[in-house]
Amino acid sequence: MNDARAVALLIEDDPHIRRFVHTALASQGYEVIESANGERGLTEAAARKPDLVILDLGLPDMDGIQVLHSLREWASMPVIVLSARAMESAKIMALDSGADDYLTKPFGAGELLARVRTALRHATATGEQNAGVLTVGGLQVDLIRRKVVVDGREIHLTPIEYGLLAILIRNAGKVITHRQLLREIWGPSHVEDNHYVRIYMAQLRHKLEKNPAQPRYLVTETGVGYRFAEE
Ligand code: CA
Repeated sequence: MNDARAVALLIEDDPHIRRFVHTALASQGYEVIESANGERGLTEAAARKPDLVILDLGLPDMDGIQVLHSLREWASMPVIVLSARAMESAKIMALDSGADDYLTKPFGAGELLARVRTALRHATATGEQNAGVLTVGGLQVDLIRRKVVVDGREIHLTPIEYGLLAILIRNAGKVITHRQLLREIWGPSHVEDNHYVRIYMAQLRHKLEKNPAQPRYLVTETGVGYRFAEE
């Protein structure tokens, strides 16, 4: 972060969660604007142009997904959605509608801050930074030469395996839904074919992970998709 404080807009009707999120973000130097409903949140977003929006999906006046759609008509700042465990499908819909990440209630301050850092980092990263060589642990991926090295050994990946890995790496730290992966790799007519992703992800883990059953890099977000763990 540079000297200008990053501004986060929090749209959430539960005052306890508002206070918790506000305190956590303020402790790290973020400026926080609070809105208790969707309409107010959209007004604040337009007026204050926050660097990041944290959006509860269950709002009293309108659907969080609706807020997201309205926001995405004009704004590209990262949006992290907050969802209750019972709202699995809303969460996936939010990610497919342009949310950048999600947190399931209850969540801890550490988890919240990590997601916020990742979202802001992606918002400011340039294409060049993302197009370079990524090194995490023993894994090295050269996104220009399409070269993958694991513990010093070059690994051969099929085009589909490489495509999956490249999408997850370009979005390192962020969750990517099954639907997003299917659309990118197999095309819009295959967005329901979740088993494609499962099969290729298993192959990819087998090639990259020391223990494919407990992946270090390619983490499963149960029922949602996958995340490349960069830390
Ligand atoms: Ca709520």
